[in-house]
Amino acid sequence: MQIIRFSQAGGAPQYGWLLDDKIGLIEGSPFAAFRRGEAAIELEKVDLLSPVEPSKIICVGRNYVAHAQEHDVDVPEVPLLFLKPPSSIVGPGGTIFLPPQTQRVEHEAELAVVIGQRSRWLNPETAKAAILGYTIANDVTARDLQRRDGQWTRGKGFDTFCPVGPWIETDFDPADAVVTCNVNGELRQMGSTRDMVFPVLQLIAYASSVMTLEPGDILLTGTPAGVGPLVDGDELVSSIEGLGELRNPVRAEPPH
Ligand code: MG
Repeated sequence: MQIIRFSQAGGAPQYGWLLDDKIGLIEGSPFAAFRRGEAAIELEKVDLLSPVEPSKIICVGRNYVAHAQEHDVDVPEVPLLFLKPPSSIVGPGGTIFLPPQTQRVEHEAELAVVIGQRSRWLNPETAKAAILGYTIANDVTARDLQRRDGQWTRGKGFDTFCPVGPWIETDFDPADAVVTCNVNGELRQMGSTRDMVFPVLQLIAYASSVMTLEPGDILLTGTPAGVGPLVDGDELVSSIEGLGELRNPVRAEPPH
């Protein structure tokens, strides 16, 4: 099932499920018991929103060997975790703003895991039951600030630096899916999730040994090789086989 979050005519956000190009309402929460309404709303007549409103965005650094190599660093011996703030989220079609403090913003297309239930101390066997589904995210990064600060909070944490969507797919196998990133129609990144250093269930179990995972939290699983710059006017498309594509325009942040 494909779960979306959307608004009609600027109204309050609602959850729905997709059947081809029609939406049915989800009555109740997709993270608890719910009923599916008849799919009768035209997809093209609504505004898609980020399908999640996480309490935290857990990210994993250097989880593909080829990406670690392009930055001339080793892959970590245990997963390298960091956080992005929920305020960094934008939905499908949402604009990524380039802040004035940075001269080098880069794209990182990533598979995102959506947590379905509150959990702690999972192991790779029990982790699967804690997952609601999967979506696409981009771990947009101010590379110059990431390097300058040492800590990654600023470089990874600006508003709009975490596009997410277009929907949550509950039937998805993360073992071997192609992740791609295009900028203005030019292919920049392509890799397979099979090349992750730490696979999804191991990452979820590891994160849950540190912090309680809440329904709607997302975990970004790292980016394949080919990261590169984003500039004003770019059109960013992050896509994953089986999960659709996530489109976001890139613009300079207007002066304040
Ligand atoms: Mg990343």
